[in-house]
Amino acid sequence: MFETLLLNFLFLLFPVLIVVIFFENRAYPYNNKLLVFMSAVTMVLCIAKPIKLEMGFIYDLRYIPFILVALFGGYWSALPLYAIMNIYRFYLGGAGTFPSFLFSTAVLLLVPYLSKRFIKLSSKRRILWAVVIAAFTMGMYLIILGLMTDKLDQQFWRLTVYALLTHGAVMSIIMILIEQIITNIKNRDRILQSERLNVVSELAASVSHEIRNPLTVTSGFLQLLNKSNTITPEEKGYVELSLLELNRAEKIVSDYLSFAKPQSDNMVCSNMKAEAEYTKNIIMPYATIHKVDVQFNFNNTLHKSYDKNQIQQCLINLYKNGIEAMKEKDGGTLTIDISEKKQNIVISIQDTGIGMTKEEISRLGKPYYSTKEEGTGLGMLMAYSAINKVKGIIEVESEKGKGTTFLITIPT
Ligand code: ADP
Ligand code: MG
Repeated sequence: MFETLLLNFLFLLFPVLIVVIFFENRAYPYNNKLLVFMSAVTMVLCIAKPIKLEMGFIYDLRYIPFILVALFGGYWSALPLYAIMNIYRFYLGGAGTFPSFLFSTAVLLLVPYLSKRFIKLSSKRRILWAVVIAAFTMGMYLIILGLMTDKLDQQFWRLTVYALLTHGAVMSIIMILIEQIITNIKNRDRILQSERLNVVSELAASVSHEIRNPLTVTSGFLQLLNKSNTITPEEKGYVELSLLELNRAEKIVSDYLSFAKPQSDNMVCSNMKAEAEYTKNIIMPYATIHKVDVQFNFNNTLHKSYDKNQIQQCLINLYKNGIEAMKEKDGGTLTIDISEKKQNIVISIQDTGIGMTKEEISRLGKPYYSTKEEGTGLGMLMAYSAINKVKGIIEVESEKGKGTTFLITIPT
């Protein structure tokens, strides 16, 4: 009996192992079709090698992969598992087939429903909830079983305790492993990102200073030339084009410059009210041109020391991206909300624009990643760099076609 339990446990470890070894490099290991497939195989193996206890009582761990997939992947991932489980169960036949069908249907209806909330929980809570749900599912199953058999003797209760304990224990071990994998992936991504920021800011500091001076000089002389009376209109056109392009180069350089180390004369200790209002006023005309309505709420008393230029630049970049995302949809609403929550300054920037897929979100903040024709792909990188310097984090929530929310949390 113990050997079978171990065997079942081994089946459950398989997908986890394969993910660690082969798929840890992917940004989003869940929602993966292969994972659903591997879980299905695990489930079938669990059903095929059930744990036989005394008095002909048979049970297995099939609901563990099922619940895991349902919780992490939602309805669409759980559905194939449900189908496979029942097809296999009908093929095996026997007295318990129909109750088992009803029971799995109930689990299919209830558990994936919790998925959206489950994914948002913290790691520890997810482990706790997964164990509770596994124990609860097994508990319901045992209650139904108890109602069907009339002899509720001591043996039955012993089995109940045994089944509940194994389910809880196996689920907690598997969940701890899964959560550790997720944490490792997140940590590695964070280190990669901060490494990228370091490289960029070092390069930026050295290159942009050198480039800025020649740009300013050239642009000054071109402006002088533009005012001259002796140039023809055609030549004037050329000069104006050159000036425009110089301006663009200047813009890119100043985007780059702001990656540099915080400067002491820019450091302030404040509640960000001045920066928030200043940047809002700066983007107002831009918003109006694109028929974007700006909602602004400020409600923060916490103070923090930061480089005000960088925070301003970061906010402007995020506002601009929001407005640009609504450009194609012919307007919308940009909601800016700055508040405090448990000693953290929380900045939420929400747009009703085109939104992003998970894949696009994971590429945010990589240098030169842009989907816009005129884009530089530096705006988000700068935003991440500025927030990184005040030890804050940026969370992104987005739905394709509906809009995006950037949630910045800065500890004080
Ligand atoms: P740029 O704006 O120059 O393209 P950014 O670094 O500011 O560069 O943004 C990178 C990419 O991220 C954008 O091209 C866009 O595809 C995507 N993006 C950023 N913010 C949003 C948003 N609020 N809604 C939709 N897509 C966004
Ligand atoms: Mg941008």
